[in-house]
Amino acid sequence: GSIIGILGGGQLGRMLSVAASRLGYKTHIFEPGANPPAGQVADQVTTAVYEDEAALLAFAQSVDVITYEFENIPTAALDILEAHRSIRPGREALRVSQDRITEKEFLSELGLEVAPFAAVQTADDLHAALEKIGTPSILKTRRFGYDGKGQARINSAADAAAALSDMAGSPSVLEGFVKFSHEISVIAARGLNGEVACFDPGENVHVGGILRTTTVPATLPARLRMDAVFIASRILNALEYVGVMGVELFVTGNTLVVNEIAPRVHNSGHWTQNGCAVDQFEQHIRAVVGLPLGDGKRHSDVVMENLIGDDMDKVPALLQEPHVALHLYGKAETKSGRKMGHFNRVAPSA
Ligand code: ATP
Ligand code: MG
Ligand code: MG
Repeated sequence: GSIIGILGGGQLGRMLSVAASRLGYKTHIFEPGANPPAGQVADQVTTAVYEDEAALLAFAQSVDVITYEFENIPTAALDILEAHRSIRPGREALRVSQDRITEKEFLSELGLEVAPFAAVQTADDLHAALEKIGTPSILKTRRFGYDGKGQARINSAADAAAALSDMAGSPSVLEGFVKFSHEISVIAARGLNGEVACFDPGENVHVGGILRTTTVPATLPARLRMDAVFIASRILNALEYVGVMGVELFVTGNTLVVNEIAPRVHNSGHWTQNGCAVDQFEQHIRAVVGLPLGDGKRHSDVVMENLIGDDMDKVPALLQEPHVALHLYGKAETKSGRKMGHFNRVAPSA
């Protein structure tokens, strides 16, 4: 069997490794941090920073294809890796999704709706952006944000100075607040031959910027369900994407506004582990090694709930419940705000 290289050793890398192993592949994880969750299940781990050119080279030469579980890989590291092995999904998906402004410009050029936005670096920029976009709005760092980190709500002009100082000088973007009725996401995959398969849209509830639950099926009229899948397919095809992507959308009345895209397996796709014959992790592995994709059909309805920090106290009770599948990440230390695991509560689909 071939060896799949995975950049990043968090829980997503761990679940990708498990899926790869089930299909007879070996995995090699590249991760700067010690004791990564994926290290417990992968065949090999390189502990090195992305500036370590020799380690990157040795990693690339030890694998057949390279994929990743997070989008913030430094460009210089990608250059070294890509000189030796294919990186899937490709560079264009990373370029577009690493910066919130590049991402919104790309989506707008595709004719998709995004929140009104403006680049902000200085107090003057923010003032001008607020004139244009108004309040409520959200100031976000352009790069490196996740789980709602690097974001500040601006409810009135008086909040502006505090919001800007929260960004600590990082290049930022002001986004108009979208008055959504709910949030959904589409987990979509595109194969090496261009075939596209989408999982059913899931309905996402965030608390404090962190995903709390995903419910499938989402409350959504049939037309919007189709629109969501078309939007995801448009994005994948435009990027000539190979692999699984998460597309986050706001639902407002009869329209869908694209929030952001993640060029990787996605927390809101964890329900597929117990709702579909081929889950998002296997789907991603199939795509990056060039196998045919699963069709994304759902056999069960699922509510996925994250176990964050002290939520781990719920585990004994969850183990008593029939129809609950637990997925724990093997993280040594429980910290507040840290994703420790998730569970899928499953019911046969109507
Ligand atoms: P992730 O972990 O999903 O990558 P992130 O840090 O990139 O999170 P966003 O997805 O930008 O953060 O925002 C987190 C949540 O904050 C959204 O899911 C949504 O609930 C809310 N939010 C963000 N931007 C907006 C907006 N423009 N209008 C309304 N709500 C928003
Ligand atoms: Mg994000
Ligand atoms: Mg998000």
